[in-house]
Amino acid sequence: MAQSRRGCGCALAALLLVLIVAGIVIVPFLLRWWREKPPPPSGAELRVHVLNVGQADSILIISPAGKTVLVDAGNPGGGRLVQAAMNRAGVSAIDLLIATHAHADHIGGADEVINNVTVRRVLDSGVTNTTKNYADFLAAIGARGVEYTTAEPNQNFDLDGGARVSVLAPIKPFFTASQLRSGGNEPNANSVVVRLDYGSFSMLLTGDAEAQTEDRMIASNANVAAKVLKVGHHGSRYATSEDFLRRGRFETAIISNGADNRYGHPSQEVLDRLRAANVRVYRTDLHGEIIITSRGKGYEVKAEREATGDIFAGRTPQRDDSSRSGFVQYGDFGPPPRAPRNRNNNSNAARGR
Ligand SMILES: [Zn+2]
Repeated sequence: MAQSRRGCGCALAALLLVLIVAGIVIVPFLLRWWREKPPPPSGAELRVHVLNVGQADSILIISPAGKTVLVDAGNPGGGRLVQAAMNRAGVSAIDLLIATHAHADHIGGADEVINNVTVRRVLDSGVTNTTKNYADFLAAIGARGVEYTTAEPNQNFDLDGGARVSVLAPIKPFFTASQLRSGGNEPNANSVVVRLDYGSFSMLLTGDAEAQTEDRMIASNANVAAKVLKVGHHGSRYATSEDFLRRGRFETAIISNGADNRYGHPSQEVLDRLRAANVRVYRTDLHGEIIITSRGKGYEVKAEREATGDIFAGRTPQRDDSSRSGFVQYGDFGPPPRAPRNRNNNSNAARGR
């Protein structure tokens, strides 16, 4: 009798132990699932406009409920392109302006946008910069009294109607120059990376993140799987690693780049990796503005025009896109390369052959 009771007690203790261990293992997963679960989609249309702003980034998101997010604002002078796109889309204010990092091809037009339309909140990487562009950006935020927030992983911004933006990076501590592989660049590596979710639709917007940023997100178990990828760093060979493509399982990739760029963006290596991963590619240099729409199930991609060249042909670099020794801030290179005297050569260069 006593033995049986002891046996019963042991079984109960073992069961309790199993339950405790299962709880310790399962609860974090449940919490993460709950935290990452997007709200149900309203069924109204979400629109993502990847604007044609040359060798730069600017992406306008309009939620199903009409909330607006602007991810970067193009080069200096690009503010008018953003405003024109806002007018075409019928929106007059930006609820959230995400400055992925302080390079001029991302925040160059931000002060113009902030000074000319209502911007309710700015999300910044928090990595400061000494450039005039960044000073102008901060001055505009101060002058217009815009709410300023620094990005932290797991921050969520509810866009209503079931759409949500979540921050995946930068992951602290920030990358320092000495931690970066050859070709690495600190502001790029510490770019704000966000994901946009709406029902079964999802899109990853990576700024100019480097392969090391991608590795860090994967190591931190960030949810990088998405239907659409805004390719990192205009298609630079220092981003969009094979491992990242495997984890991301992207169906469509959008490259924001200009026909006249010295960095050879997009690189042949990245285009080859995207093709090998069976990813459909759109490029602003060839397609113009690219518009993605979704009602929470599936999505459509429309381009301003048919591609004006071979989508999978990379451009030839005139200098390394971010070699540590020679790297200067974007926008500090001056005007695009001068046209060669031979017109035929010039047209070949424009097609990136
Ligand atoms: Zn850039």
